Amino acid sequence: MTYATFPLGRIAGIRIGAHWSVLIVLGLLAWLLATAVLPVGAPDSTPVANWAAGIVSAAVFLASLLAHEMCHALVARRYGLRAERITLWLLGGATELPDEPPTPRAQLLVAVAGPAASLLVGGIFLGGAVLAAPVLPAVVSVSLVWLGWSNGVLAAFNLLPGTPLDGGRVLEAIAWRVTGSRDRARRIAGAGGQVLAAAVAAFGVWELLIRGDATGFWLIGMSWFLALAARGEMSAAPLREVLARIRLREVMSTDLVTAPGWYTVQGFLDQAARTRFRTFPVVSFGGAPVGVVSLSALSRVPSSARTSVRIEDICVKPPACLVASPDAPLSEVFSRARLRPGQDLVLVVDRGVLVGVAAPGDLARVLELTALGVRPGHDAGSVK
Ligand SMILES: [Zn+2]
Repeated sequence: MTYATFPLGRIAGIRIGAHWSVLIVLGLLAWLLATAVLPVGAPDSTPVANWAAGIVSAAVFLASLLAHEMCHALVARRYGLRAERITLWLLGGATELPDEPPTPRAQLLVAVAGPAASLLVGGIFLGGAVLAAPVLPAVVSVSLVWLGWSNGVLAAFNLLPGTPLDGGRVLEAIAWRVTGSRDRARRIAGAGGQVLAAAVAAFGVWELLIRGDATGFWLIGMSWFLALAARGEMSAAPLREVLARIRLREVMSTDLVTAPGWYTVQGFLDQAARTRFRTFPVVSFGGAPVGVVSLSALSRVPSSARTSVRIEDICVKPPACLVASPDAPLSEVFSRARLRPGQDLVLVVDRGVLVGVAAPGDLARVLELTALGVRPGHDAGSVK
């Protein structure tokens, strides 16, 4: 969904985009309203008024879809999770949340936020329609009722219990809480998604063949998307399960060269040149871990500034740099960050003390060994 997407700007720092297919939705909804809903609900209204109200209502509906996605993103942010981009497309909205929620509670609240927003928005539209009915033209009242109703349906559909719908995440959070295993919970929600996909497909076929209703096509398309997403979720589980059993302390490097944060770039360069490392954990004068600095970050400092800029000023600090406890399962480390070789390093910190680091190379090695069915050994000594 990253291509064929046009940017619509940023809200609260989150990039908003729309896939071209959203125009189909806009057109279909406007057409549905102008030709089927409004002529019945407001029989005295003219076709021009119906089309105008239809187009405006379809656009407002897309805006309320955006509100749904924004609420997912904002709650995710409250838990320190990255929320990068929201894309509106043919089948609704999608919020990119690359990080895994840290607890079942966080997962539950992030998932519930979207449908809650839809219900609230829908309630406001319905309330507005009822309160303002005496003064508004019928075509506007009917549009408001339709908006309220559609947002309610949106909330209800999204709460169906299967991955990748919000209800699937809710189910996953509850199962995670009950079983204590995120991976089992994920499989349960994935299975829910597959059952759901089959049910939606069957309903779509019934709509199409028995009732002769073209929305069947849309439902079949939706079921295909649901099935693919649910399967992707389930096939990722076994590797994640293995990684969940390996602790960071088993693969981290303890042989490391730290960069003193109070050193100037020039001062540290002389020291860095004598090591084989490309990335370094930065420590404060008191020895506390501060962040990570890479040779590539050092190279971006103009040579005239090397004697005045301090390492502390240019190092990458949390949350941009990953800090984890030695007992953190690798599955968590992998899900929290995309690590770039030569630039990123996981700081392994125990009670405020830096006890080791894990570089992308270390983690890639674990992945490769795991894929070969070999459990990675302890003395993996190199940081590359
Ligand atoms: Zn949602």
